[in-house]
Amino acid sequence: MDRKVRLPLLGQPDPDVPKDVHFVGRYALGVDWADQHGSIYPFERLRRDCGCGGCATLEDVTRDMAWPAEVARVDRGVRVRWSDGHESLYAYPDLRALCRCAACTGGH
Ligand SMILES: [Zn+2]
Ligand SMILES: [Zn+2]
Repeated sequence: MDRKVRLPLLGQPDPDVPKDVHFVGRYALGVDWADQHGSIYPFERLRRDCGCGGCATLEDVTRDMAWPAEVARVDRGVRVRWSDGHESLYAYPDLRALCRCAACTGGH
């Protein structure tokens, strides 16, 4: 699977734009991509994957830090406001790259 090569084809749905963003139980965010792939992002992992740089080095992720107060689809990405007030923005291609399922991490 060659997901790193992206050739934009006119008229093709953009595989990086999700069809659906939803909660998975009480612990994770789920994204269904246009190419049928489904990703699940546990909140704590998602918080550490925040692009600000600071969150990745957090020693401890408390319940507030890993609980989204608001999840909004914005232009080309998903914005999460956490219960501690911090905001994270995940552009769709970045979010897709964060998927750690066996298919995406090349488990074989
Ligand atoms: Zn952050
Ligand atoms: Zn995946």
